Amino acid sequence: MTTAIPVSHSAYDRFGTLGSAEVKAAASALVGLVGAEHVLTGADAGRRYPGDQSWLTAIHAHFGQPLNQPDVAVAAGSTSEVSGIMALASRMRIPVTPLGGASGVQGAANANCGGILLDLTRMNRIREIDTASLTCTVEAGMNVKAFEAELNRQGLSFTHYPASAEWASVGGSVAARGSGVLSTKYGNIQDHVLSLEVVLPDGGVVALPPVPKHGVGPEMTQLFVGAEGTLGVITAVRVKLRRLPVTRIFSAFRFPTLADGIAAGREIMTSGLRPAVMRLYDKYAATQSLEKAVAAGLDGETMILMVDGDHERLIAQEAALCDEICATHGARALSPAIGSTWWERRYDFYHPPHAPQLPQIWCTMDAVSDFTRIEALYEEVTRSMREAADARWGMTLKTHLSHWYDWGAMIYPRFIVPRGPDDLDEALALHDRIITAAAEAALRAGGVINDHHGVGMRLAPHLQAQFGDEGMKLMRGIKNGIDPAHILCPGKLAMR
Ligand SMILES: Cc1cc2nc3c(=O)[nH]c(=O)nc-3n(C[C@H](O)[C@H](O)[C@H](O)COP(=O)(O)OP(=O)(O)OC[C@H]3O[C@@H](n4cnc5c(N)ncnc54)[C@H](O)[C@@H]3O)c2cc1C
Repeated sequence: MTTAIPVSHSAYDRFGTLGSAEVKAAASALVGLVGAEHVLTGADAGRRYPGDQSWLTAIHAHFGQPLNQPDVAVAAGSTSEVSGIMALASRMRIPVTPLGGASGVQGAANANCGGILLDLTRMNRIREIDTASLTCTVEAGMNVKAFEAELNRQGLSFTHYPASAEWASVGGSVAARGSGVLSTKYGNIQDHVLSLEVVLPDGGVVALPPVPKHGVGPEMTQLFVGAEGTLGVITAVRVKLRRLPVTRIFSAFRFPTLADGIAAGREIMTSGLRPAVMRLYDKYAATQSLEKAVAAGLDGETMILMVDGDHERLIAQEAALCDEICATHGARALSPAIGSTWWERRYDFYHPPHAPQLPQIWCTMDAVSDFTRIEALYEEVTRSMREAADARWGMTLKTHLSHWYDWGAMIYPRFIVPRGPDDLDEALALHDRIITAAAEAALRAGGVINDHHGVGMRLAPHLQAQFGDEGMKLMRGIKNGIDPAHILCPGKLAMR
């Protein structure tokens, strides 16, 4: 059976999977580097590492054609082990796919061209906390929730709160250029990162400058943020910390229209106010999704706000100003308990029994633009996604705006088809039709096709349209310079 995924396995022909003699040689060398207990081969590797959490991974596994097909899986415990593994892979010209918490939703962390799956989760130590500078150096494999819990014990916070915190690693968050629910105030992951330790494809270890503000050439740290493992293996990350906030003030509003909510959000952001949470739900997301989460009757476009910080008086003022701005845009105040209940239950709906599962088809097509284009982005993307799925599939589409910047915002349209086709090719074709419609619409509206979930296998076919010929040439030039043999994640980010 052929697959309808535009990135076909033929893109990786130059490597293919390894021959049994190569697997044996690589595995025995890896055992010498990290110990037999940290090396698995063939089916054992596939069973231990079933792939990431994308629908693409789930549907392929369901039909017995797993996307993640490592020849060898190795769990590294230190930077020098990662260096040894990369040097070996480089000598043997074996592809390597780094793996953090495997919580990606785009199919990026799958070893879909075989080779070595490099598990970083044994690298889970905090190396240093600097309480004067409020910085911390943490190993890449540390779990985000465990990291936050450890910091909280010391009155500190990473402030990176993705809904996948219990699975995601710090390094995976950096590699996928992730974002958390507090991003509107504290920034996406790229704003948290000060510096990186990276192992290059040939095994060389680079310690990038300790701070990003400098005049010694381009800011190379950011080159690896969002590179999805294609340029180097991140082994440690120096991040900014914050003190835990002294208080959090919640509010909630019903807006006459989504445009009114966007106008209020724009005014809040462009006037220098910084709510930590600002989530604007369209009428579908408010009435079909948020309403259940907060157990309150909602009847249309709803915004949740949360303001936090170190100074109680400042927080009270900032909250009052945000509320005033909402009121001037026609908003009616709802119970603040809607906001605080959402905060308490914010992760519940990403877990069973609420999380989607087969035979459903699901995906989020987050996209981002400046304020001039944000309404058009919302209209164009949601209309195109609806038109792409024939009514008989009963697709639901719920959208919210939850990552705001001082120049624009993100839309987060999430679709679910309750029961997809029973055939793999047909299911993939329906999925691809919806994603393609969304990506093309986002570009037509002047947006960028992803805000924080990354590219992976899902969006790779759309990168050319995003960056154009010269943009792709630049990206490939960087890849060819750092990884001339294309050892790391070959074909990913459409770089080959
Ligand atoms: C229920 C759910 C909710 C989610 N919510 C959010 C959210 O709120 N915000 C958000 O941003 N994302 C979210 N995600 C997506 C996912 O959690 C993020 O993309 C996360 O950053 C991935 O981290 P990970 O450690 O699991 O990476 P993985 O899935 O293991 O890997 C992701 C990519 O990074 C590469 N990689 C991993 N570690 C390294 C490393 N050390 N060095 C180099 N490359 C590496 C991999 O090769 C792959 O390309 C969600 C996912 C799920 C399932």
